[in-house]
Amino acid sequence: MRIHTLRERLRALGANPRHEQRVLRLWSQALPQTSGRRQIEHFLPSALVAELPAIADELAALARLESQHPGEDGSARLLVKLGDGQMVETVLLPRDGVCVSTQIGCAVGCVFCMTGTTGLIRQVGSAEIVAQVALARSLRPVKKVVFMGMGEPAHNLDNVLEAIDLLGTVGNIAHKNLVFSTVGDPRVFEALPLGRVKPALALSLHTTRADLREQLLPRAPRLSPEALVEAGEIYARATDYPIQYQWTLLDGINDSDEELDGIVRLLTGKYAILNMIPFNSVEGMPYQRPSWEKAADIARRLHRRGILTKLRQSAGQDVDGGCGQLRARASMPVVRRNISIVPVGS
Ligand code: SF4
Repeated sequence: MRIHTLRERLRALGANPRHEQRVLRLWSQALPQTSGRRQIEHFLPSALVAELPAIADELAALARLESQHPGEDGSARLLVKLGDGQMVETVLLPRDGVCVSTQIGCAVGCVFCMTGTTGLIRQVGSAEIVAQVALARSLRPVKKVVFMGMGEPAHNLDNVLEAIDLLGTVGNIAHKNLVFSTVGDPRVFEALPLGRVKPALALSLHTTRADLREQLLPRAPRLSPEALVEAGEIYARATDYPIQYQWTLLDGINDSDEELDGIVRLLTGKYAILNMIPFNSVEGMPYQRPSWEKAADIARRLHRRGILTKLRQSAGQDVDGGCGQLRARASMPVVRRNISIVPVGS
């Protein structure tokens, strides 16, 4: 479901913009539609009052909790059932964050990602994205929403932007705490500056070598790492939020001295944070997780060379961690992939 479809329905029941905002605010903040000091009968049109219980039930049915898997780090992976029975993963993050899914499956096909093994199954509607936040808020406070779950947000741009607009207004999430994550699609750099809610931006870099990036992210737009960083820098300066560059660290693939030199060359002087996330080993994928000591040494060396680097665990990595693994386990056998990667420096 799209948010604008919901707005049209409310208007057909006599809602004016203030009524509409009230219903959307209470829903997105996981508050009952009867909240507030004023009796709804004295504020909302009677046709809307009569329909409100049915509308509240339909909104609750957009995203239902199927199962919850707490991690040792304070996160919890949620398997969430959408209205048509499709499953997505939503992750409660430590420190009041939530990571939402924007697609079922994904067409980019990153070779280290379980979600990418299925291709795109369907888009997640804007109301279903907000419903994941409302579900999370029914379990914990939420002050930050990252669009880093299943799917490539740039491939579902209208729905994601509609959800961002709502969350950054009546949804009461600070704009810098909405984080749009993408492999780097030129349409994103055109669309984000035009919105009234401008989210922070995370860009999946993963390597500074264009040839290796084409192999790791086979169906990402063919932007060179240099062009990606250049476009990111323009957005960072325009919004005054640093770009978060994401780097999944794959042992022996993108952790060489040559890559570290490339990072220094690309990111020196940029308004940027580099998030290094050691890969979570997955059965059937030909990649290894580097040791924590090796990853920490890489982060330290980059820091010494002036690159603001954070070494992160992916949330809940002790519970089928890694985007799409929970859904994969719930719905299908693990897919084995046959992938060959040109080693760094070859
Ligand atoms: S890492 Fe993100 S963009 Fe890549 S296949 Fe997985 S969901 Fe898609």
